[in-house]
Amino acid sequence: MTAPQPKSWIMGIAPYVPGRATTDDGRKVVKLSSNENPLGTPAAARAAFLEAATSLERYPDASGAIVREALAAKHGLDAARIIYGNGSDEVLHLAAGAFSGPGDEVIFVHYGFAVYEIAARRTGAVPVIAPDADYATDVDAILACVTDRTRVVFVANPNNPTGTYVTRDEVARLHAGLRADILLVLDHAYAEYIEGELDDGGMELARTASNVLVTRTFSKMYGLAAERIGWGYGAAPLIDAMHRIRLPFSMTIAGQHAAVAALGDIAFVEHARAHNAEWRRWFADEIGKLGNAGLRAVPSQANFVLVLFEGALTGEAAYKGLMDAGYIVRWLPNQGLAHGLRITIGTEDECRGVIAALRDLTDRTGAQDAHAAARDGGIERG
Ligand code: PMP
Repeated sequence: MTAPQPKSWIMGIAPYVPGRATTDDGRKVVKLSSNENPLGTPAAARAAFLEAATSLERYPDASGAIVREALAAKHGLDAARIIYGNGSDEVLHLAAGAFSGPGDEVIFVHYGFAVYEIAARRTGAVPVIAPDADYATDVDAILACVTDRTRVVFVANPNNPTGTYVTRDEVARLHAGLRADILLVLDHAYAEYIEGELDDGGMELARTASNVLVTRTFSKMYGLAAERIGWGYGAAPLIDAMHRIRLPFSMTIAGQHAAVAALGDIAFVEHARAHNAEWRRWFADEIGKLGNAGLRAVPSQANFVLVLFEGALTGEAAYKGLMDAGYIVRWLPNQGLAHGLRITIGTEDECRGVIAALRDLTDRTGAQDAHAAARDGGIERG
Protein backbone atom coordinates (compact mmCIF):
# COMPACT_ATOMS: atom_id res chain seq x y z
CA MET A 1 0.00 0.00 0.00
CA THR A 2 1.52 3.28 -1.07
CA ALA A 3 -1.26 5.62 -0.06
CA PRO A 4 -4.19 5.80 2.35
CA GLN A 5 -6.99 3.58 1.06
CA PRO A 6 -10.54 4.90 1.21
CA LYS A 7 -13.06 2.45 2.59
CA SER A 8 -14.40 0.26 -0.20
CA TRP A 9 -17.94 1.56 0.28
CA ILE A 10 -16.76 5.17 -0.14
CA MET A 11 -15.40 4.40 -3.60
CA GLY A 12 -18.80 2.93 -4.47
CA ILE A 13 -20.32 6.41 -4.21
CA ALA A 14 -21.05 8.31 -7.42
CA PRO A 15 -20.47 11.98 -6.47
CA TYR A 16 -23.51 14.26 -6.35
CA VAL A 17 -23.93 16.30 -9.52
CA PRO A 18 -25.48 19.71 -8.78
CA GLY A 19 -27.77 21.55 -11.19
CA ARG A 20 -25.74 23.56 -13.67
CA ALA A 21 -25.66 27.36 -13.90
CA THR A 22 -23.75 27.81 -17.16
CA THR A 23 -23.86 26.26 -20.64
CA ASP A 24 -21.21 24.00 -22.20
CA ASP A 25 -19.61 27.09 -23.71
CA GLY A 26 -19.73 29.01 -20.42
CA ARG A 27 -22.73 31.25 -21.14
CA LYS A 28 -24.77 32.21 -18.10
CA VAL A 29 -28.40 31.49 -18.84
CA VAL A 30 -31.64 31.19 -16.88
CA LYS A 31 -31.12 28.52 -14.23
CA LEU A 32 -34.09 26.21 -13.86
CA SER A 33 -32.01 23.23 -12.76
CA SER A 34 -31.99 23.34 -8.94
CA ASN A 35 -35.55 24.17 -7.87
CA GLU A 36 -34.59 27.48 -6.31
CA ASN A 37 -37.10 30.27 -5.70
CA PRO A 38 -37.41 32.39 -8.89
CA LEU A 39 -38.86 35.24 -6.82
CA GLY A 40 -35.68 35.59 -4.75
CA THR A 41 -35.33 35.96 -0.98
CA PRO A 42 -37.66 37.75 1.46
CA ALA A 43 -36.31 41.32 1.87
CA ALA A 44 -36.31 41.00 5.67
CA ALA A 45 -34.12 37.90 5.43
CA ARG A 46 -31.59 39.71 3.26
CA ALA A 47 -31.53 42.63 5.73
CA ALA A 48 -31.03 40.28 8.69
CA PHE A 49 -28.24 38.53 6.83
CA LEU A 50 -26.42 41.81 6.17
CA GLU A 51 -26.81 42.94 9.75
CA ALA A 52 -25.09 39.79 10.98
CA ALA A 53 -21.93 40.89 9.16
CA THR A 54 -21.09 43.05 12.19
CA SER A 55 -20.18 40.06 14.38
CA LEU A 56 -18.16 37.69 12.26
CA GLU A 57 -15.43 37.01 14.80
CA ARG A 58 -17.73 34.94 17.04
CA TYR A 59 -18.87 31.37 16.52
CA PRO A 60 -22.59 31.09 15.88
CA ASP A 61 -24.84 29.67 18.59
CA ALA A 62 -24.19 25.95 18.22
CA SER A 63 -27.71 25.09 19.34
CA GLY A 64 -29.34 27.31 16.71
CA ALA A 65 -31.75 28.39 19.45
CA ILE A 66 -33.35 31.35 17.66
CA VAL A 67 -34.16 29.24 14.62
CA ARG A 68 -35.47 26.28 16.61
CA GLU A 69 -37.64 28.57 18.72
CA ALA A 70 -39.03 30.37 15.68
CA LEU A 71 -39.79 27.04 13.98
CA ALA A 72 -41.36 25.64 17.13
CA ALA A 73 -43.63 28.67 17.41
CA LYS A 74 -44.61 28.61 13.75
CA HIS A 75 -45.34 24.91 13.48
CA GLY A 76 -46.43 24.18 17.06
CA LEU A 77 -43.43 21.94 17.76
CA ASP A 78 -41.16 21.20 20.72
CA ALA A 79 -37.97 23.21 20.09
CA ALA A 80 -35.90 20.56 21.89
CA ARG A 81 -36.84 17.99 19.26
CA ILE A 82 -35.68 20.09 16.29
CA ILE A 83 -32.29 19.34 14.79
CA TYR A 84 -30.75 21.58 12.17
CA GLY A 85 -28.14 20.95 9.51
CA ASN A 86 -26.12 22.54 6.75
CA GLY A 87 -29.10 22.25 4.46
CA SER A 88 -31.47 19.36 4.93
CA ASP A 89 -28.78 17.43 3.05
CA GLU A 90 -26.81 17.29 6.29
CA VAL A 91 -29.87 16.15 8.26
CA LEU A 92 -30.37 13.30 5.76
CA HIS A 93 -26.74 12.30 6.27
CA LEU A 94 -27.20 12.46 10.04
CA ALA A 95 -30.20 10.15 9.82
CA ALA A 96 -28.35 7.55 7.75
CA GLY A 97 -25.19 8.01 9.82
CA ALA A 98 -26.86 7.50 13.18
CA PHE A 99 -29.14 4.61 12.20
CA SER A 100 -27.35 2.54 9.57
CA GLY A 101 -23.92 1.03 9.11
CA PRO A 102 -22.04 -1.71 7.29
CA GLY A 103 -24.33 -4.59 6.33
CA ASP A 104 -27.55 -2.67 6.98
CA GLU A 105 -30.02 -1.80 4.25
CA VAL A 106 -31.47 1.59 3.38
CA ILE A 107 -34.50 1.77 1.07
CA PHE A 108 -35.54 4.54 -1.31
CA VAL A 109 -37.32 4.73 -4.66
CA HIS A 110 -35.70 4.41 -8.07
CA TYR A 111 -36.54 7.93 -9.21
CA GLY A 112 -35.52 9.41 -5.87
CA PHE A 113 -33.31 12.14 -4.49
CA ALA A 114 -29.64 11.38 -5.18
CA VAL A 115 -28.44 12.23 -1.67
CA TYR A 116 -30.18 9.18 -0.13
CA GLU A 117 -27.86 6.80 -1.93
CA ILE A 118 -24.78 8.82 -1.00
CA ALA A 119 -25.86 9.08 2.63
CA ALA A 120 -26.52 5.33 2.79
CA ARG A 121 -23.31 4.25 1.10
CA ARG A 122 -21.25 6.62 3.22
CA THR A 123 -22.14 4.58 6.31
CA GLY A 124 -21.30 1.30 4.60
CA ALA A 125 -24.98 0.40 4.29
CA VAL A 126 -26.44 -1.23 1.20
CA PRO A 127 -28.86 0.89 -0.85
CA VAL A 128 -32.03 -0.98 -1.78
CA ILE A 129 -33.99 0.57 -4.61
CA ALA A 130 -37.77 0.18 -4.77
CA PRO A 131 -39.40 0.41 -8.21
CA ASP A 132 -41.83 3.26 -8.85
CA ALA A 133 -45.36 3.02 -10.29
CA ASP A 134 -45.48 5.29 -13.35
CA TYR A 135 -42.91 7.61 -11.73
CA ALA A 136 -44.78 7.77 -8.41
CA THR A 137 -43.68 6.32 -5.08
CA ASP A 138 -45.15 2.84 -4.65
CA VAL A 139 -45.74 2.02 -0.99
CA ASP A 140 -46.22 -1.69 -1.67
CA ALA A 141 -42.94 -1.84 -3.58
CA ILE A 142 -41.12 -0.19 -0.66
CA LEU A 143 -42.69 -2.57 1.85
CA ALA A 144 -41.73 -5.52 -0.36
CA CYS A 145 -38.06 -4.43 -0.09
CA VAL A 146 -38.01 -4.61 3.72
CA THR A 147 -35.79 -7.30 5.22
CA ASP A 148 -34.34 -8.04 8.66
CA ARG A 149 -31.46 -5.77 7.74
CA THR A 150 -33.55 -2.71 6.83
CA ARG A 151 -32.72 0.23 9.08
CA VAL A 152 -33.82 3.37 7.25
CA VAL A 153 -36.43 4.22 4.57
CA PHE A 154 -36.21 7.58 2.79
CA VAL A 155 -39.31 8.99 1.10
CA ALA A 156 -39.44 12.51 -0.31
CA ASN A 157 -42.95 13.91 -0.38
CA PRO A 158 -43.35 15.56 -2.82
CA ASN A 159 -40.67 13.53 -4.52
CA ASN A 160 -37.66 14.86 -6.42
CA PRO A 161 -37.17 14.54 -9.41
CA THR A 162 -40.73 13.39 -10.17
CA GLY A 163 -42.78 15.93 -8.15
CA THR A 164 -45.25 13.18 -7.27
CA TYR A 165 -47.12 13.11 -3.98
CA VAL A 166 -47.95 10.28 -1.58
CA THR A 167 -51.31 10.76 0.13
CA ARG A 168 -51.83 10.82 3.85
CA ASP A 169 -53.44 7.38 3.78
CA GLU A 170 -50.54 5.92 1.85
CA VAL A 171 -47.98 7.46 4.20
CA ALA A 172 -49.91 6.02 7.13
CA ARG A 173 -49.99 2.62 5.43
CA LEU A 174 -46.25 2.78 4.80
CA HIS A 175 -45.55 3.67 8.40
CA ALA A 176 -47.87 0.96 9.69
CA GLY A 177 -46.11 -1.60 7.50
CA LEU A 178 -42.63 -0.84 8.86
CA ARG A 179 -41.19 -2.46 11.97
CA ALA A 180 -40.73 -0.09 14.90
CA ASP A 181 -36.94 -0.36 14.63
CA ILE A 182 -36.92 1.02 11.07
CA LEU A 183 -36.50 4.79 10.78
CA LEU A 184 -38.88 6.37 8.27
CA VAL A 185 -37.45 9.65 6.99
CA LEU A 186 -40.10 11.82 5.32
CA ASP A 187 -38.28 14.47 3.34
CA HIS A 188 -40.52 17.54 3.14
CA ALA A 189 -38.12 19.79 1.19
CA TYR A 190 -41.02 20.81 -1.07
CA ALA A 191 -43.84 20.68 1.49
CA GLU A 192 -44.63 24.39 1.13
CA TYR A 193 -45.61 23.87 -2.51
CA ILE A 194 -48.30 21.26 -1.94
CA GLU A 195 -51.68 22.31 -3.25
CA GLY A 196 -54.29 23.77 -0.91
CA GLU A 197 -54.74 22.02 2.37
CA LEU A 198 -53.18 18.68 1.46
CA ASP A 199 -51.11 17.29 4.31
CA ASP A 200 -49.41 13.91 4.23
CA GLY A 201 -49.61 13.60 8.01
CA GLY A 202 -45.82 13.32 8.24
CA MET A 203 -45.36 15.97 10.88
CA GLU A 204 -48.08 14.41 13.01
CA LEU A 205 -46.25 11.08 12.76
CA ALA A 206 -42.96 12.78 13.69
CA ARG A 207 -44.73 14.23 16.72
CA THR A 208 -46.24 10.99 17.90
CA ALA A 209 -44.29 8.00 16.56
CA SER A 210 -40.87 6.90 17.81
CA ASN A 211 -39.48 6.06 14.36
CA VAL A 212 -40.37 8.97 12.05
CA LEU A 213 -38.14 11.91 11.17
CA VAL A 214 -39.44 14.76 9.00
CA THR A 215 -36.86 16.95 7.28
CA ARG A 216 -37.46 20.43 5.89
CA THR A 217 -35.48 23.25 4.36
CA PHE A 218 -35.15 26.99 3.93
CA SER A 219 -33.61 26.46 0.49
CA LYS A 220 -36.76 26.37 -1.62
CA MET A 221 -39.81 28.44 -0.69
CA TYR A 222 -37.84 30.62 1.76
CA GLY A 223 -35.30 31.58 -0.89
CA LEU A 224 -32.22 30.84 1.21
CA ALA A 225 -30.50 28.05 -0.72
CA ALA A 226 -27.16 29.84 -0.52
CA GLU A 227 -27.22 29.85 3.27
CA ARG A 228 -27.67 26.07 3.69
CA ILE A 229 -30.30 25.78 6.41
CA GLY A 230 -32.30 22.62 6.87
CA TRP A 231 -33.92 20.99 9.86
CA GLY A 232 -35.56 17.85 11.11
CA TYR A 233 -38.19 16.87 13.67
CA GLY A 234 -38.65 13.59 15.43
CA ALA A 235 -38.77 11.75 18.74
CA ALA A 236 -36.23 12.91 21.32
CA PRO A 237 -34.06 9.73 21.17
CA LEU A 238 -33.75 10.09 17.38
CA ILE A 239 -32.70 13.71 17.69
CA ASP A 240 -30.32 12.90 20.54
CA ALA A 241 -28.48 10.31 18.44
CA MET A 242 -28.14 12.66 15.48
CA HIS A 243 -26.83 15.48 17.69
CA ARG A 244 -23.87 13.30 18.63
CA ILE A 245 -22.52 13.24 15.09
CA ARG A 246 -23.54 16.61 13.69
CA LEU A 247 -21.05 19.34 12.97
CA PRO A 248 -21.17 21.73 15.91
CA PHE A 249 -21.52 24.98 13.97
CA SER A 250 -23.02 24.08 10.60
CA MET A 251 -25.57 26.91 10.61
CA THR A 252 -23.91 30.31 10.22
CA ILE A 253 -24.88 33.30 12.31
CA ALA A 254 -26.12 35.19 9.23
CA GLY A 255 -28.08 32.12 8.16
CA GLN A 256 -29.75 31.84 11.54
CA HIS A 257 -30.92 35.45 11.50
CA ALA A 258 -31.98 35.27 7.87
CA ALA A 259 -34.00 32.11 8.55
CA VAL A 260 -35.88 33.68 11.46
CA ALA A 261 -36.68 36.75 9.36
CA ALA A 262 -37.79 34.60 6.41
CA LEU A 263 -40.20 32.66 8.64
CA GLY A 264 -41.82 35.94 9.59
CA ASP A 265 -42.43 37.05 6.01
CA ILE A 266 -45.76 35.37 5.49
CA ALA A 267 -46.70 37.60 2.54
CA PHE A 268 -43.60 36.52 0.61
CA VAL A 269 -44.33 32.85 1.18
CA GLU A 270 -47.99 33.21 0.22
CA HIS A 271 -47.04 35.07 -2.92
CA ALA A 272 -44.41 32.48 -3.86
CA ARG A 273 -46.87 29.63 -3.24
CA ALA A 274 -49.59 31.26 -5.35
CA HIS A 275 -47.11 32.04 -8.12
CA ASN A 276 -45.88 28.46 -8.17
CA ALA A 277 -49.38 26.96 -8.16
CA GLU A 278 -50.51 29.20 -11.02
CA TRP A 279 -47.50 28.64 -13.23
CA ARG A 280 -47.09 24.96 -12.42
CA ARG A 281 -50.66 24.44 -13.62
CA TRP A 282 -50.10 26.56 -16.73
CA PHE A 283 -46.83 24.80 -17.49
CA ALA A 284 -48.30 21.30 -17.17
CA ASP A 285 -51.27 22.32 -19.37
CA GLU A 286 -48.93 23.63 -22.04
CA ILE A 287 -46.89 20.43 -21.96
CA GLY A 288 -50.19 18.56 -22.33
CA LYS A 289 -50.79 20.49 -25.57
CA LEU A 290 -47.51 19.05 -26.86
CA GLY A 291 -48.76 15.55 -26.16
CA ASN A 292 -49.03 14.72 -29.84
CA ALA A 293 -45.26 15.32 -30.03
CA GLY A 294 -44.75 12.77 -27.25
CA LEU A 295 -44.31 15.19 -24.34
CA ARG A 296 -45.90 14.39 -20.98
CA ALA A 297 -45.82 16.19 -17.63
CA VAL A 298 -45.71 13.98 -14.55
CA PRO A 299 -48.29 15.43 -12.08
CA SER A 300 -46.35 17.61 -9.64
CA GLN A 301 -46.96 19.03 -6.18
CA ALA A 302 -43.53 20.68 -6.08
CA ASN A 303 -41.88 23.74 -7.64
CA PHE A 304 -40.77 21.80 -10.70
CA VAL A 305 -42.25 19.51 -13.32
CA LEU A 306 -40.72 16.35 -14.73
CA VAL A 307 -41.35 16.41 -18.48
CA LEU A 308 -41.06 13.07 -20.30
CA PHE A 309 -40.06 12.94 -23.95
CA GLU A 310 -41.63 9.87 -25.49
CA GLY A 311 -41.76 11.00 -29.13
CA ALA A 312 -39.31 12.06 -31.82
CA LEU A 313 -37.83 14.86 -29.71
CA THR A 314 -35.53 13.13 -27.21
CA GLY A 315 -34.75 14.27 -23.69
CA GLU A 316 -31.17 14.94 -24.68
CA ALA A 317 -32.11 16.99 -27.75
CA ALA A 318 -34.61 18.98 -25.69
CA TYR A 319 -31.99 19.58 -23.00
CA LYS A 320 -29.49 20.88 -25.54
CA GLY A 321 -32.13 22.85 -27.44
CA LEU A 322 -33.30 24.55 -24.25
CA MET A 323 -29.71 25.38 -23.39
CA ASP A 324 -29.26 26.99 -26.82
CA ALA A 325 -32.44 28.96 -26.17
CA GLY A 326 -31.03 30.23 -22.86
CA TYR A 327 -32.49 27.83 -20.26
CA ILE A 328 -30.64 25.28 -18.17
CA VAL A 329 -32.85 22.52 -16.84
CA ARG A 330 -32.03 19.19 -15.23
CA TRP A 331 -31.34 16.17 -17.38
CA LEU A 332 -30.81 13.02 -15.32
CA PRO A 333 -29.52 10.23 -17.56
CA ASN A 334 -27.60 8.76 -14.63
CA GLN A 335 -30.82 8.22 -12.72
CA GLY A 336 -32.48 6.30 -15.52
CA LEU A 337 -34.17 9.45 -16.77
CA ALA A 338 -32.46 10.05 -20.10
CA HIS A 339 -35.96 10.61 -21.50
CA GLY A 340 -36.94 13.25 -18.95
CA LEU A 341 -36.15 16.81 -17.96
CA ARG A 342 -36.87 18.25 -14.55
CA ILE A 343 -37.76 21.88 -15.05
CA THR A 344 -38.07 24.37 -12.18
CA ILE A 345 -41.12 26.65 -12.29
CA GLY A 346 -39.55 30.05 -12.91
CA THR A 347 -40.98 33.52 -13.36
CA GLU A 348 -43.85 34.02 -15.81
CA ASP A 349 -41.42 35.07 -18.54
CA GLU A 350 -39.21 32.07 -17.89
CA CYS A 351 -42.14 29.62 -17.99
CA ARG A 352 -43.40 31.15 -21.22
CA GLY A 353 -39.89 31.12 -22.67
CA VAL A 354 -39.33 27.44 -21.93
CA ILE A 355 -42.66 26.45 -23.44
CA ALA A 356 -42.01 28.57 -26.56
CA ALA A 357 -38.59 26.93 -26.94
CA LEU A 358 -40.06 23.43 -26.49
CA ARG A 359 -42.80 24.16 -29.02
CA ASP A 360 -40.18 25.35 -31.46
CA LEU A 361 -38.06 22.22 -30.86
CA THR A 362 -41.02 19.86 -31.36
CA ASP A 363 -42.04 21.74 -34.53
CA ARG A 364 -38.55 21.48 -35.92
CA THR A 365 -38.20 17.81 -34.96
CA GLY A 366 -41.58 17.12 -36.54
CA ALA A 367 -40.51 18.92 -39.71
CA GLN A 368 -37.27 16.95 -39.76
CA ASP A 369 -39.22 13.72 -39.28
CA ALA A 370 -41.54 14.55 -42.15
CA HIS A 371 -38.52 15.44 -44.27
CA ALA A 372 -36.75 12.19 -43.35
CA ALA A 373 -39.90 10.16 -44.00
CA ALA A 374 -40.27 11.78 -47.43
CA ARG A 375 -36.60 11.19 -48.16
CA ASP A 376 -36.63 7.57 -46.92
CA GLY A 377 -39.85 6.98 -48.82
CA GLY A 378 -38.17 8.45 -51.89
CA ILE A 379 -35.22 6.10 -51.52
CA GLU A 380 -37.49 3.10 -51.11
CA ARG A 381 -39.51 4.03 -54.15
CA GLY A 382 -36.33 4.72 -56.05
N1 PMP B 1 -34.44 16.79 -0.25
C1 PMP B 1 -34.86 16.92 -1.50
C2 PMP B 1 -35.94 16.03 -1.99
C3 PMP B 1 -34.29 17.90 -2.33
O1 PMP B 1 -34.69 18.02 -3.59
C4 PMP B 1 -33.27 18.73 -1.82
C5 PMP B 1 -32.62 19.79 -2.66
N2 PMP B 1 -32.13 19.40 -3.87
C6 PMP B 1 -32.85 18.52 -0.51
C7 PMP B 1 -33.47 17.55 0.26
C8 PMP B 1 -31.72 19.25 0.10
O2 PMP B 1 -31.90 20.60 0.16
P1 PMP B 1 -31.08 21.51 1.13
O3 PMP B 1 -29.84 20.75 1.55
O4 PMP B 1 -30.78 22.70 0.37
O5 PMP B 1 -31.96 21.74 2.32
